Amino acid sequence: MSELEVNEKPTHFIRQIIESDLEDNNKNITQLVTRFPPEPNGFLHIGHAKSICLNFGLAEDFQGQCNLRFDDTNPEKESQVFIEAIKQDVRWLGFQWAGEIKYASDYFAPLYAFACDLIRQGKAYVCDLSPEKMREYRGTLTEPGTDSPYRDRSIDENLELFEQMKAGKFAEGERVLRAKIDMASPNINLRDPILYRIRFVEHHQTGNEWCIYPMYDYTHCVSDALEGITHSLCTLEFEDHRPLYDWVLDQIDVSQHTQNTGHPQQIEFARLNLNYTITSKRQLKQLIDEQVVSDWDDPRMLTISGMRRRGYTPASLRQFCQDIGVSKADSMVDMGMLEHAIRQDLDQHAPRAMCVLNPIKVVITNYPEDKTEWLTLSKHPKAEMGHRKVPFERELWIDADDFMLEPEKKYFRLAPQKEVRLRGAYVIRCDKVIQDEATGEILSLECHYDPDTLGKKPEGRKVKGVIHWLAAKHAQPCQVRLYDRLFTVENPAAQANRLNTSFLDYVNPNSCQVLENALIEPSVVKEVKAAKESKEAQAAQEQEVELEVELKYQFERLGYFCLDIHDSTSDSTGERMVFNRTVTLKDTWAKLSESK
Ligand code: ATP
Ligand code: MG
Repeated sequence: MSELEVNEKPTHFIRQIIESDLEDNNKNITQLVTRFPPEPNGFLHIGHAKSICLNFGLAEDFQGQCNLRFDDTNPEKESQVFIEAIKQDVRWLGFQWAGEIKYASDYFAPLYAFACDLIRQGKAYVCDLSPEKMREYRGTLTEPGTDSPYRDRSIDENLELFEQMKAGKFAEGERVLRAKIDMASPNINLRDPILYRIRFVEHHQTGNEWCIYPMYDYTHCVSDALEGITHSLCTLEFEDHRPLYDWVLDQIDVSQHTQNTGHPQQIEFARLNLNYTITSKRQLKQLIDEQVVSDWDDPRMLTISGMRRRGYTPASLRQFCQDIGVSKADSMVDMGMLEHAIRQDLDQHAPRAMCVLNPIKVVITNYPEDKTEWLTLSKHPKAEMGHRKVPFERELWIDADDFMLEPEKKYFRLAPQKEVRLRGAYVIRCDKVIQDEATGEILSLECHYDPDTLGKKPEGRKVKGVIHWLAAKHAQPCQVRLYDRLFTVENPAAQANRLNTSFLDYVNPNSCQVLENALIEPSVVKEVKAAKESKEAQAAQEQEVELEVELKYQFERLGYFCLDIHDSTSDSTGERMVFNRTVTLKDTWAKLSESK
């Protein structure tokens, strides 16, 4: 990519630091190297997407490289399932990591060797304080801590004890290895932080090889240095950890383990917070455990897999991450921005189709019973996406919402003795409403059509409303799921804190509405079948083809929808199609205007 193109991307403070570092000959940085370091203890969410786009995006722009490194130092919470999901998410977003996947656990041996070096330098010691005592000795924000009674153990004793920790001679919690820095430091992170603890847990990568595991702060900086990371980008909560990051790297000599000798630079940026949602893996997991949502990829979850299933596109997420920018100031981003990004993308790329959510029957009394007219409708107003065939018949379906027995003023859809245009077809007029005598329920509408209105305005009168419809004999059943925000308040976590409640108290009970009787036009069914067949044919040729079909549409007047990749099935009896509404056509939280 040329320098000009790089500069065309919106700049931000990290991009500026990198530009100047690459130009500064004294820094000796020949190539930008970043990393995305997820902990494999859950699925990635929209906040991680920001970090992915930043790290991988910068590497792309500066012809550098970005590593995917699993930060796997807590084996009890981690699993291979999460590793696979994270790899899939990064790839789906459109990024490719440099070389092999990396694991912090790849470095357990050098990490252990460096810890022994620290002991030999008198900069680390084995401590026997219980976790409670250690907390007591740590001091507070306003009071200095107290030295551990084990702080002055001899180097030999420390080496021996650490060796025994590694050999499994002690119980969990009995001993830890700590850095010897400064118990009076105003920065609590420097008050002799723990470097290693004992855990008798099998690790998903290293099995039972280790029973001591290094702590995040110690592991991260060393892993960065071993990989030759030049810029280690992380979120603001690590700002106070930076002195420890630098301290560790200043004490050790990585040159015996790698050709990379530079000292990576940690730079912090503000994490993404989005209103009406939560972005914490722990809380996302709680939503699953409490069965508020079905799983990590529930379309209401702002996990990358949830958004994918909901119909978000990689391009829209990358655009959103660019739009929100990168800064040092914490802020709350409006969900409307995310929805705007997906609308922009789908408006350009999603073909149009018609779907009826809550059907009521319309009989065109002056249309022959056995006639079917195949009308040609364009798939998209602008792009050259071609056409589709839509049948018109005597019996049709329209949406219950598009008829009103006693219409309000400015209701331009169908009502008794009123006219409306059927999208891409004729103008019809409602002559008679057939109701259930007992309940008053509307059973069907008798209408007549004006044959002289196909692609033409009606003579001598104005018909303002346009509604969607389907031919009854050709319409195919499907299930449609309409989603709303998962929470009823802007910041569920903060609200729960303030009122001493749980964030679960603010779950929106109407966040998913399932419509079982929806109907869809035949051209969509044809496309779903064709897409499935072509995937299967591809899978027969190549390995590792996902059979999931990602089909997206604008259902006219209803919003953007996608075929649910899990619950849509197809077998000899036919297709069972489930559509998720990705997003409405307009921001429905700003009041919907009556006539679209
Ligand atoms: P969570 O708080 O959801 O558990 P985490 O920070 O513990 O997230 P990690 O797997 O450690 O999750 O995160 C991997 C990377 O993604 C880290 O560099 C982290 O800073 C970044 N990240 C996580 N959440 C956000 C967010 N909301 N905005 C931007 N970056 C984020
Ligand atoms: Mg983390």
